[in-house]
Amino acid sequence: MFSPFHPRQTPQGLPFPFVESTAPPLACTILTSPRKQATSGSGSWSQPDSLYNELMILETFPVGPLQCNCTLLGDEAAGEAIVIDPGDEVSRIHRRLTELGLKLKQILVTHAHIDHVGGALQLKRLTGAPILLNENDLPLLAMMESQAAWLGVPTPETAPPDEGLAEGQRVGLDHYPAQVIHTPGHTQGSVCLHFAPLKMLIAGDTLFAGSIGRTDLPGGNSQQIIHSIQSRLLALPDETRVIPGHGPVTTIAVERSTNPFLRIR
Ligand SMILES: [Zn+2]
Repeated sequence: MFSPFHPRQTPQGLPFPFVESTAPPLACTILTSPRKQATSGSGSWSQPDSLYNELMILETFPVGPLQCNCTLLGDEAAGEAIVIDPGDEVSRIHRRLTELGLKLKQILVTHAHIDHVGGALQLKRLTGAPILLNENDLPLLAMMESQAAWLGVPTPETAPPDEGLAEGQRVGLDHYPAQVIHTPGHTQGSVCLHFAPLKMLIAGDTLFAGSIGRTDLPGGNSQQIIHSIQSRLLALPDETRVIPGHGPVTTIAVERSTNPFLRIR
């Protein structure tokens, strides 16, 4: 499948989403409390991760043909959750929220590419949760028909976000808050979400394991993404666990020392 979204192909012939390097194909990333297991036969959802509080549920799973990493963060005690980047497979995400008995509080979208935002409105309709997106990506959101055409997929219905995601804004759950870091470059409205108490960064398509987001799409800027990463993300503590928009988990320390896109500047 050729698409202007994906100039490179994986060895399996699948498009490699929004990545400029020859990093390995996408891997499933699942981090969760061992206490609640999927019951709906929706595949391998749960692996214990001892780094996390037992009352916290953290699951990251790839959705849709481009395998966007969608993250569900839940607080069992409060009965609340947030979902980040519900790009596709909304019924699966909604079923998981129901299984866990969690009320969805926010739908957070790191940027307005179709594979990250495509299911947001449908999930909002099912749950009543507001959608949050940085205002600089509103032009991209308005290009959904073009984005779908590039990929040869049906155009998902979208609507303007209920709230912005501005630099410094606090979002997330009461016990698991995140701060918004505006990291333009992949798109003008790209943001990362820093869960400082959890030592975790949701990086969208700005930073990947061994790679960075592509900048050849509308709104992309290669100098800007490097600046965003170097000035904002590499300033985070070494041990910060990075969950990228696609592919495997990494850390700030590993990317600072080995990411080839960040070494020669
Ligand atoms: Zn993207």
